[in-house]
Amino acid sequence: MRIAFIGLGNMGAPMARNLIKAGHALNLFDLNQTVLAELGELGAQVSASPKAAAAASELVITMLPAAAHVRSVYLNDDGVLAGVKAGTPVVDCSTIDPQTARDVSAAAAKQGVDMGDAPVSGGTGGAQAGTLTFMVGASESLFASLQPVLAQMGRNIVHCGEVGTGQIAKICNNLLLGISMIGVSEAMALGNALGIDTQVLAGIINSSTGRCWSSDTYNPWPGIVETAPASRGYTGGFGAELMLKDLGLATEAARQAHQPVILGALAQQLYQAMSLRGDGGKDFSAIVEGYRKAE
Ligand code: NAD
Repeated sequence: MRIAFIGLGNMGAPMARNLIKAGHALNLFDLNQTVLAELGELGAQVSASPKAAAAASELVITMLPAAAHVRSVYLNDDGVLAGVKAGTPVVDCSTIDPQTARDVSAAAAKQGVDMGDAPVSGGTGGAQAGTLTFMVGASESLFASLQPVLAQMGRNIVHCGEVGTGQIAKICNNLLLGISMIGVSEAMALGNALGIDTQVLAGIINSSTGRCWSSDTYNPWPGIVETAPASRGYTGGFGAELMLKDLGLATEAARQAHQPVILGALAQQLYQAMSLRGDGGKDFSAIVEGYRKAE
């Protein structure tokens, strides 16, 4: 299939590579010429604009930083909607607010284009390995046409409901993740300060009612989980800046819905303070450092 792929950063580039490996012909667009040259060497075509990439393709995929980029890549004069043919399936995999996903999809629908949202979890490792989870907000028929292609970049392809629901699933999950990591940090640091061996404490938590992904798979205390970022200086995981972005999306969506997210807002402020200290590039589990004496 001929696929337009726009936004080839840390996530988009390895996703596009997996589509090339699966035998698709890609029309690429990004502002970064270096990544275009690299993917061009694998046989992909480089397009002059999102409009040109979309016009020449049977499916359009975008993977951009934030809502403002999504609006401009779709709605500008040289954007996707200026070029895409009616009936072409379109999916945005960026993590953005649900309302922007619905707005851009409504603009696409006016010209006979069905556009869904499919944010991902699994990080850059999942993007490289082709094991991402896609949370898809789309009509039944759009989901049916997207599913086989998304399955070439991911392992779990979940239909969440109509357009926007993929983003809702993503931001609610990350709201909970941001909060649970702080909870585990407090418990581990308190146990350490009171004098229990942290390995013993983690073992108790992980076989008791406090157990969660932040405690048993991604524990923030160094040395508890060998494969967790805490055991390699909080490098190479899910950056605190990205967590801060997702908590911002969640608290903004909550504001629009008049829904309280009391712990979520507090968590957002704690990651904000971490970012201000200059630690926004560290894995988000480094939030535990706020609970430890400086060494
Ligand atoms: P990134 O910043 O590495 O890549 C974004 C790419 O978009 C860059 O190559 C940039 O040049 C390009 N771009 C920006 N504006 C553009 C425009 N107007 N036209 C064309 N290209 C443009 O970001 P990323 O880490 O790949 O993340 C992409 C999305 O995936 C974000 O919404 C992020 O929240 C989400 N996400 C990231 C991760 C992760 O671990 N990195 C995990 C899950 C979800």
